[in-house]
Amino acid sequence: MKDQCSNGLQALFHNPDVATGSLGELLNHSSALLCKWLADAPNHGPRPGLIVQPLAEPDVAGKQIDELWRDLSSLMDGAYRPNHPGALAHLDPPALNVSICADLIAAGLNNNLLAEELSPSLSRLERSLCSWMARQIGLGANASGVPASGGSLSNLMALTCARRAANLQGRCDGVVLTGAGSHVSLNKALAVMGMEPDCLWRLPLDPEGRLLPAVLADALDRANQLGLPILAVVATAGTTVQGVVDPLRQMAALCKAAGVWLHVDGAIGGICALVDSQRWRVDGIELADSVSLNPQKLLGVSKPSSLLLLQDPNHLRTCFSTGLPYMEQATADHGGELGIQGTRGAEVLKLWMSLQYLGLEGIEKILEGAFLRARSLRSLLEPLPLHLLAGDLHLLSFNSAAASADEQINWRDRCHKQLLESGFWLSKPDWRDLPLLKAVLGNPFTSAMHLEQLASIISRSL
Ligand SMILES: *Cc1c(COP(=O)(O)O)cnc(C)c1O
Repeated sequence: MKDQCSNGLQALFHNPDVATGSLGELLNHSSALLCKWLADAPNHGPRPGLIVQPLAEPDVAGKQIDELWRDLSSLMDGAYRPNHPGALAHLDPPALNVSICADLIAAGLNNNLLAEELSPSLSRLERSLCSWMARQIGLGANASGVPASGGSLSNLMALTCARRAANLQGRCDGVVLTGAGSHVSLNKALAVMGMEPDCLWRLPLDPEGRLLPAVLADALDRANQLGLPILAVVATAGTTVQGVVDPLRQMAALCKAAGVWLHVDGAIGGICALVDSQRWRVDGIELADSVSLNPQKLLGVSKPSSLLLLQDPNHLRTCFSTGLPYMEQATADHGGELGIQGTRGAEVLKLWMSLQYLGLEGIEKILEGAFLRARSLRSLLEPLPLHLLAGDLHLLSFNSAAASADEQINWRDRCHKQLLESGFWLSKPDWRDLPLLKAVLGNPFTSAMHLEQLASIISRSL
């Protein structure tokens, strides 16, 4: 007799009574579909054409699974292909295989990192991994942090902690000092914090795109003279257009002397501090009060994967703890007590599996590969009549050395189009009044041969 309580709904979920149920078949099919899509990348461009979109709204009766697979396939045809060798436009590399698997498992576990009782082993793993990451980048024995769904949230939480630590909570008149190349998420953070846009002082950069310590020192003095409280200084370890790392050590010294919180936005470059051979690129990061770090970028952990790490993680508790009255006491902090987000998936699982599988040597190899590709492309482009904005990481932006702005814009559009026709996708940032082409060399499928091809198309377009 049919159970009125379950009413056939169990068929939608995995039934533990049935050893090999339909979930297995669905997973096999999904896995075949995904592997085919990944393998198919070289037969397409990195940037797909428009597809006929399937309907967004559900039917009354629901779809047959075969029809659904067809709609899913067409959506996948319209997706950006990060593993195409010519996918060089953005900070969005292909995902590590183990990370894809971990995401799948995490979806099935459906644990909630809000509270320890909803994710016992994973909560403990998250705390230990955050502590390890924070210690490994040099923030000290007591350092730790919290994962966040993206670097924008990590930056927002950092500035919220900084404001509180400066005893400025509830006040909107403080200023945040940063370089002109900092990420736009800082503007959003201030908006959320109830502050006016002009509270973000974007300081001028040197010709290389770096914030000079003397410029910061002047700005600190100026804020003091105006009687404006300084909420934080934000240094960037890898700017979004150029990949420039600010002089972290000198900025930290200035902040220490002024008693001001230093946040390092290391969404791109922070990962370098995990391994000895690359740490020099972000020298001084260990002196920050807080660091944002995005394993979803250079390292290839699937999205979203970001962390906010702090020398003193008590700041998170002070800002965000609510007592979570509807949860049991945890053995340590509940995940939801350390940040803005409530319910969170087990993003820690893919980060942990990726780091475990790679080991420090694997991390090193990924970073070295990206930096090698960036150096190679740079040396291929250097002899050409281009203006290169190279930075310190795996990004390379450039524009034509043509005299007039119109010529530069025309060349950029022409070259961008010719590259796309040959399967190379670069992005088109406008930055410091320059129409640039930008290549991000984080894609392990881009070979030396691809880079030579890329350079020769650029050369011919000039
Ligand atoms: C990508 C990026 C961010 C924002 O991270 P999201 O994950 O996109 O929110 C912040 N800062 C820098 C320097 C970045 O490149």
